[in-house]
Amino acid sequence: MTIYEAVKRTVPVPDAALRYGLETTRNGMARCPFHKDNNPSMKLNDDYFFCFGCGESGDVIDLTAGLYGLNNYDAVHKLADDFGVGYETVILDPAKIEQKRLEREREQEK
Ligand SMILES: [Zn+2]
Repeated sequence: MTIYEAVKRTVPVPDAALRYGLETTRNGMARCPFHKDNNPSMKLNDDYFFCFGCGESGDVIDLTAGLYGLNNYDAVHKLADDFGVGYETVILDPAKIEQKRLEREREQEK
């Protein structure tokens, strides 16, 4: 698993929006940071956002990059730092996957 996948899996879009100062309404709408938005026209889903005003859309990394004027690489590391997405998660994961695979094989041999 890459850091990109780890962050996207760990940090829902509305959580990042809230943390980074976007006001969200109860039905998950926010004022779009990508155009001059007087009424909330950006819909925040857990794994992506979409703006009905300007058509901007993307994942939590795109949102963070847009808010702070970062490239995706810097945005993903900001998210990892701010939300405590450990690099261990990323590094350890292949081993866990391998372990699961071996367990499955052993199950099948029974
Ligand atoms: Zn917009």
